[in-house]
This record gives sequence, C-alpha cells and structure tokens, in this order.
Amino acid sequence: MWNEQIETMSRDDMRTLQLARLKQTLERVYKNVPFYKKRLDDVGIVPDKVNSLEDLQHIPFTVKDDLRDNYPFGLFAVPMKEIVRIHASSGTTGKPTTVGYTRADLDMWSECVARIATMAGASENDIAQIAFGYGLFTGAFGLHYGLEKIGAAIIPMSSGNTEKQAMIMQDYGSTILVSTPSYALYMSEVMQEQGIKKSDIKLKIGLFGAEGSTEEMRSQLENRFGIIATENYGMSELIGPGVSGECIHKTGMHINEDYFIPEIIDSQTGKVLPYGQKGELVITTISKQGIPLLRYRTKDITYLIPEKCKCGRTTIRMAKIQGRSDDMLIIRGVNVFPSQVESVLLGMPHISPHYQLEVSRVGYLDNLKVIVELEDESLLESFSQLEQLEKNIKQKLHIVLGLDAKVHLAEPKTIERSLGKAKRVIDLRNNSTSTL
Ligand code: ADP
Ligand code: ZN
Repeated sequence: MWNEQIETMSRDDMRTLQLARLKQTLERVYKNVPFYKKRLDDVGIVPDKVNSLEDLQHIPFTVKDDLRDNYPFGLFAVPMKEIVRIHASSGTTGKPTTVGYTRADLDMWSECVARIATMAGASENDIAQIAFGYGLFTGAFGLHYGLEKIGAAIIPMSSGNTEKQAMIMQDYGSTILVSTPSYALYMSEVMQEQGIKKSDIKLKIGLFGAEGSTEEMRSQLENRFGIIATENYGMSELIGPGVSGECIHKTGMHINEDYFIPEIIDSQTGKVLPYGQKGELVITTISKQGIPLLRYRTKDITYLIPEKCKCGRTTIRMAKIQGRSDDMLIIRGVNVFPSQVESVLLGMPHISPHYQLEVSRVGYLDNLKVIVELEDESLLESFSQLEQLEKNIKQKLHIVLGLDAKVHLAEPKTIERSLGKAKRVIDLRNNSTSTL
C-alpha cells in the first residue's frame, strides 16, 4: 500500500479526520469565496457551528453552472500568486470549467494517484506509457506525476499517433498503459493489424479512466493485451483523475476519503440515499485550497460500498459508473444508457467492439438506431447471415432496454475511432428537447 495509515484507517478515525477537514474547508471558503459566503448565509450555516458530518446534508449543492457563472476564476479561494497550475474540463458537455491548483493541491493530487496506481499493482519497477492527451485536460498530468511519485519510468506519449504508440510499447517494453478504455481498444486493433502479438509486448497493467466502460469491455482489453485492466475515476472540478481507483480485486473504486467526502443522492429530490442505493455521486473536497467545492454534483450515477475490501483497505468504494445523468437518453419514456447497449454488443460474435447510438425524432416519436460494426467483411456477402445477426442483436437489445431499436450493421472500420473520450451518442433531435 502506498499510504497504509490512511488506507486502512478505522471508520471512526476517518470520520473524525473528515469532520476536522470539513470544518477547515467551510471556514476557508466562507472567508475567501464570496459565492460560498452568500450560499452559506442564505441557509443560515455558520461554519464553526458545524459539529458533525451529518450537518453536511444542510449545505446547498454546487453544480457545474456555478463554475460556469463564475468563469474563469471566480470560485478560487486563494490569490492568483498561490496558484501554480490551471486546468479545465474536457468540455464534453459544453463550455469548459476552469480549475486552479496551489502547490499543496498538486502534492495532494500526486498522492491520490500514487495510491490508486499502487493498489492496481504499479511500482517503481514499471515503465508507464501515458496515452492521455497532455494539455488542459487533467488526465495526463495527473497520472504522470502520481506515477512519477512512486518511481515508475514515465513515457509521456500523449494520445494519438497510434502506430508510434505500438512501436514504443514494443521497443521500450512498457508495462503500464494509461489511456481511456476506448483508445486502448483502438490501439489493440492497430497492433493486431501490424502483426504485433501479446508475446511481443511486456504490458502488465492497464490504468484506464476518464470515461465509462463495461465489464465486457474490461474482458476484451484484458484478453487483447494480456493485462489486468483496472479503472480509476475523477474529474477536473474535483482534482482530476485520482478521486478513486480499483485495487487488483476490481470490486469497486476506493475513494481517497481523507480528501473527498462522497454522498449519493436522488437526482430528482436531492435527498441523501443510504449505502448501496444507486444515485448521483456528490463530492465535497476537504483539503483542496485552489478551488474547494462543497457538495459538488458530479452527475455520475453509482452507489457506495462501505465494507472493508479483500485487499485490506477500509476506504469506501464506489461501483462502476453506470452513466452520466447527461448521457442518459429518454426514448419514448424509457431511460437508456449507452453502457447497456455496450454490455449487449461486446459479448456477441461477428461484431467489433465499436458502436454508436443515433437518436432521431420523426413527428413526436423518438427513434433509436444502434450502429454496429461488422468484424469481418466476408459476412457482407451472405444476406441471410446478416439478417440473422441483425435479428439477434435486436432481440437482445429489446430484452435489456425494453424498447425496439433499429440496428444498422456497418462495414468494418467505418465507425470513427476515439483517441480520448469516445463519442457514443449522436443526437439528431433538436437540442432543447434532447436530454434531461
Ligand atoms: P468533462 O466533464 O468535460 O468530460 P473531465 O475531463 O473532468 O470533464 O471528465 C470528468 C468526467 O469523466 C466524469 O464526470 C465522468 O463522467 C467521466 N469519467 C471519468 N472517469 C470515469 C470512469 N472511470 N468511469 C466513468 N466515467 C468516468
Ligand atoms: Zn481493495
């Protein structure tokens, strides 16, 4: 373990630590961030009167629009001279949100990533190929400094230039790959085309994150590369990657609870839900200085697992993200997540693991088309086989989604490959009515 004292702390000690840090955070934002002073005054919360973690429930939520309204630096809690780094979200869902780090924040961030890399099996003996894009996006820098902290040798490849990635992986003997799951999948495809076999590379561990993926996707990645594929989670607003990560048991992502307090809420009512129940993840940062956030609504859907893990860690785990509430499509009244479609498609023969969902509206009716890529051209010659395959996919989708989807079988290699976060949904309906 990277930090045994923290990672195996008793629940009582952890709660005591969290409360002390929560109080400090409240005092700091009350003093330094006019936005939070007003928010807390409005509901009559006086920071030094907060005496239990249960009081957290009375603090108003912070949402992405609060960051946008205070764009770019309005929620910073320290003067600019203390900020040493600026990042922004990847902008998947609109204008990016900006975050600033003090030196202590950067140290905390590396500590978080060092822990999750170690729990996935990484050590100073490893050679880590970082195939996240370096830039405003937090992914690459987060993993870079965390892995450097544990003493691994970093190859700062960035994303893209996939043939070269394959060459470097082989020549330098990379043992860790850092990327999105969708890019890793594409990389494996390119390597296959180049005739590179599992035995030609030394890869052992995948540290995948920044987007959702299913267990089916994990198996594909593990088989294709011959690795243990672990997943980690984070978002720029909270720090970047390193909020949580899986240990080798792959039973949920351990949250770095000494820095982040997790809650699960019902997205509709805002009520806190008990452990085990699925809802929206809300996080309060309790040691960040640059831009502390109180009860930040992540829009990511998961549940919390409080039991001690087989690895010995006592930190609460969060289950795989089921989807962003943003990603959820409502089609004829039925909620559909791309991950449900993925779980159907990835187990099936004759089709590649690349897919897209296209939603359109005809009159008042929404239609879902699932575009699936064939693995092999030869199938195109047999109409009856194609028809049978299409029927199978349709039936399976119907069971999982509870609605009829059109299935379009596309020729091999026609769906755009992603170098970062994959774009799974094409929404052709007009924007004002498209999602939530
Ligand atoms: P953006 O919101 O623009 O994508 P970020 O780059 O900060 O900005 O990405 C954060 C988001 O990425 C999270 O809110 C979550 O939806 C997604 N994400 C990150 N890690 C994972 C993961 N392991 N599983 C599912 N989604 C993830
Ligand atoms: Zn564990």
